[in-house]
Amino acid sequence: MSSGLVDLRSDTVTRPSPGMRQAMAEAEVGDDVFHEDPSVNRLEDMVAALYGKDAALYVASGTMANQIAIRAQTHHGDEIIMERTSHPFNSEAGALAALAGVQVNLIDGAHGIMDAEQIRAVVRTPNVHHAPTALICLENTHNRGGGSVWPLENIRAIREVARSAGVPMHLDGARLMNACVATGLTPKDYAQYFDSCTLCLSKGLGAPVGSLIIGAKEFIAKAHRFRKQFGGGMRQAGILAAAGIYALEHNVERLAEDHLNAKRLARGIAEIEGLAVDVNRVETNIVYFDVRQAGLSVPILLERLKAEGVLMLGTGPNSIRAVTHLDVSKDGIERAVKVLREVVH
Ligand SMILES: *Cc1c(COP(=O)(O)O)cnc(C)c1O
Repeated sequence: MSSGLVDLRSDTVTRPSPGMRQAMAEAEVGDDVFHEDPSVNRLEDMVAALYGKDAALYVASGTMANQIAIRAQTHHGDEIIMERTSHPFNSEAGALAALAGVQVNLIDGAHGIMDAEQIRAVVRTPNVHHAPTALICLENTHNRGGGSVWPLENIRAIREVARSAGVPMHLDGARLMNACVATGLTPKDYAQYFDSCTLCLSKGLGAPVGSLIIGAKEFIAKAHRFRKQFGGGMRQAGILAAAGIYALEHNVERLAEDHLNAKRLARGIAEIEGLAVDVNRVETNIVYFDVRQAGLSVPILLERLKAEGVLMLGTGPNSIRAVTHLDVSKDGIERAVKVLREVVH
């Protein structure tokens, strides 16, 4: 970045590139509430095809994508199953309770990953005392799990449990492209096991705004109505959708660089006395490390980093998160490691 700042707080801090801004400026637009925005329609068709589903719906944010998808597949008073550290439960401002009106059965995963037996144990059987299980939600990659990638076997086995119980499955795929680039699998390989999926364009893909909900035709029609109800109907949104199309055409394969930079960062951190990181757990673009042995509190460490132009995020009393993205180069990572070493010692 021109300011020389190395901003590793999140992969949402990226700025649209000149090429992306040009695509936005030149976007064909229409009124998307009337389905007449050619750029939005094109983006939705692109992402539906990418995921191997009937249709997709462009929405303002990843939170809106998750919440509309959950709202459209549940009734008030239903129960949904998700992992304890998952994004919709922890980071969506109480929307599960406020908007969908569901209760959540939380599972303790390993770095966000659950197995089929854990799900089988909590799926409700018909009983007047129970809130019926209406949806099983997974997150891939898993944000608080450290950008962990779901093994396909676990997803497949959970799908079997879901199928026999007649319960649909939702994928929070905010960073699904990171999982695909890390494994070589396609979005379809993952999406085939889910009734509803999401994708965020404003994370490592570098668009300023926007997410998609992806699924079968009838589900998307229902989601469309809830998007309007949630206040998410947009008009000449093609200006924004054009950035998303550009992101999908230019910024997917390069996620491999972010993954490499995250590994570089983790290896650098591992060599600093007082900091602890599990380098082998860094599978994509997220690095969590522990500062317990550094003799510094998280806020003080973050403040010292900031004074040297390096930004990271505190995620617990001893834990800091750093996320790599397209506005941080290899040089930026080397600088972050150097500054970390200086401020810890
Ligand atoms: C960022 C993120 C979202 C969506 O967040 P918004 O800020 O609403 O776009 C959803 N799920 C996961 C796993 C995320 O990391």
